Amino acid sequence: MMLSRLPNLAIALGAVLLLTFLFVKTRAIDFEVHNQFIGDVRRLKALDATLNQDVLKSRYGQLTHYDPLVTALAELKRLQNHLQDIPPFIDKAGQIDIQRRLDDHAALLMQKEGLLERFKSRNAVLNNSLSYFPIIATELAAQAASSSSDRELADHLENLLREVLIYNLTSRQALASQIQTRVEMVLGHRARYSPSVDGADLDIVIAHVKTILKNKPQVDAVTTEILAVPMPQANDELYAAYNRRYEQALRTVNRYRLYLSLFSVMLLGYIAYIIVKLRNTTRALNAANASLERRVQERTDELLKSNVELENARDKAIQANQAKSAFLANMSHEIRTPMNAILGFTEILGGMIEDRQRKQYLNSIQISGKALLTLINDILDLSKVEAGKLELEYMVVNSHQMFSEMRTIFSQKIAKKGLEFQVEIAPELPQALILDEVRLRQILVNLIGNAVKFTEKGRIKLSVRCLYPEGDRRKLVLILEVEDTGIGIASDQVDRIFGAFEQQTGQSHAEFGGTGLGLAITRRLIEMMDGEIRVTSELNKGSTFHVTLKDVAVAEDSDLGMRTEPTIDVDSIRFEPATILITDDLEINRNLIKGYLRQYNFNIQEATNGEEAVSLTQRHHPHLVLMDVKMPVMNGYDATQRIKQNEETRAIPIIALTASAMKQAEEELGNLCDGYLRKPVSQVELVTELTKFLPHSITQPTVIDAEPLPSEPDDPQALEELDPDELDKLPE
Ligand code: ADP
Repeated sequence: MMLSRLPNLAIALGAVLLLTFLFVKTRAIDFEVHNQFIGDVRRLKALDATLNQDVLKSRYGQLTHYDPLVTALAELKRLQNHLQDIPPFIDKAGQIDIQRRLDDHAALLMQKEGLLERFKSRNAVLNNSLSYFPIIATELAAQAASSSSDRELADHLENLLREVLIYNLTSRQALASQIQTRVEMVLGHRARYSPSVDGADLDIVIAHVKTILKNKPQVDAVTTEILAVPMPQANDELYAAYNRRYEQALRTVNRYRLYLSLFSVMLLGYIAYIIVKLRNTTRALNAANASLERRVQERTDELLKSNVELENARDKAIQANQAKSAFLANMSHEIRTPMNAILGFTEILGGMIEDRQRKQYLNSIQISGKALLTLINDILDLSKVEAGKLELEYMVVNSHQMFSEMRTIFSQKIAKKGLEFQVEIAPELPQALILDEVRLRQILVNLIGNAVKFTEKGRIKLSVRCLYPEGDRRKLVLILEVEDTGIGIASDQVDRIFGAFEQQTGQSHAEFGGTGLGLAITRRLIEMMDGEIRVTSELNKGSTFHVTLKDVAVAEDSDLGMRTEPTIDVDSIRFEPATILITDDLEINRNLIKGYLRQYNFNIQEATNGEEAVSLTQRHHPHLVLMDVKMPVMNGYDATQRIKQNEETRAIPIIALTASAMKQAEEELGNLCDGYLRKPVSQVELVTELTKFLPHSITQPTVIDAEPLPSEPDDPQALEELDPDELDKLPE
């Protein structure tokens, strides 16, 4: 920034310096000094002229003393001294030139001064005689005229006076000899006469005349010399030289003035250019700003528009999702309802049939039905996760027990394939952990099930360990690893297999079957649990699935006791006689329930919709109502509400039966009804629920140990006995 400004700064500084320089140069001539100097030069000339005039005046006796001469000379010298300060704006050569002329002038003045000295002394003698000679001569002439004998002398004296005066004023040399002659004539006359005139006076007159004759030419010569001293010329030359140099300086100044003007014009032009450029830049900037603002505005408008569109799209997506959820709920109802019947009646038939062959067929129907239910559940699970409808149910779980159970669950399959199954649980893993047991079990069953399916020889190993990264013993990271020595996964397939309906390319469906849903559900469930899954694998050597669950809370071991749900032996229950109203629009469902309850001493009433249920309840006050939820005319919610609003029927317990897989529906029902069963309902579940509301007795111990998952569908025995075609069509 600073660097980029440097050239501009340098230019500005240079311009200022140049401007200052030119300005100073244009101011070089000090006109006062010039006027002073030229005035002095002029005064010098005038003073010299005055001096010359004074010399002439002095010569012709018009000055009584020499003071003016002395003063003029002193003034001339003073001026000369003053002129030594040659104006500084004159250049060097000029200074030398002028100095030389000043020196010449000074030399001439010295010469003139010498001549003046001579002039003064001689002129003093001459003037003295000239002033006394006329007086004495006139007086003597008058004396001589008074005497008749001296008349001639008087004439001579008068003529002498006239001739001397004329001689003094002219340069006629002839007069000198004439005067000489006259003097001799006077002297001759004195010898003969002059009784009236004192001889001594006459001698004085003669002496003066002689002095005049002697000095006048000398004084005139000095005067001429003085007047001939070429001081005016020297003065003129000094004047001219100075003027020349001054004009030269003036020209230089004018040249600088021109430069200054040109430079000023250039500078002004440059400034104007900068201003124009700045204005243009500002305009361009403003324009760019305006265009930017316009674009921002347009963009904002577009964004607002697309926001609105997005909001609309989101609303539509939400609606679509809701529609999907509703569809799922319906589908779950529609499929589970017949499944409920199939599995239920199979269960009932199982208790009625003795023939082994028929029992096997029945068993196959039951296994296939359960497999189908598993598939439906998988699809529903995935859809629920994707619709964000699946909610985890955290509870205290006996971790060691749950992981060990895997051994039991897979024991038959493992044994059949001749594999080894190792379960390695780190001893420091706390017993009681807060987990969604159902979903974690689902994850483990998927992973171990795959491991078993894709391994022909060797071993499967489940290892479980934990870490406390934050040092807090109440929270841990749970690490599960399922390792096998199976067919492995090609490196380019590793990511694919976690997608829905994805399997390794080229995998034989006949050999391995499957839907490609297990890992997709597994991964989503793990992500919901704030965890991650990855796989390391080598083709034909085996695979290891690594699962890491973060922030798993540790519970107190004492919390575990509360959880084991007892299972009831339905044959040991003896209910007291009671009336039960079964409400379901499907006869098949009503018959199934009736089949389950046949062995008990119940009076069964039936209603095919909510409205019937309400009126039958009011009329007969049954001891308990089993209420389907989705029904024509009036659904189960409304019917339950009506029954609960009526004072007389309010106390009758109502157990809701629903095929809905949706959590929200469960919550609503939980708030409204006294009990809740999810279809397909097993006999054991139904009877267990009834024991909560109806008086009963138990003929033998009812609480037995919790069985391994009753939902485990695979019974290898049964599968083996199925027709190979049927087997092929079955889901895993
Ligand atoms: P499915 O087992 O029903 O095909 P999954 O989603 O559970 O569906 O598995 C997807 C695919 O991942 C499998 O079909 C198989 O190709 C591959 N896969 C899963 N687990 C393993 C494993 N342990 N060994 C080799 N391949 C496996």
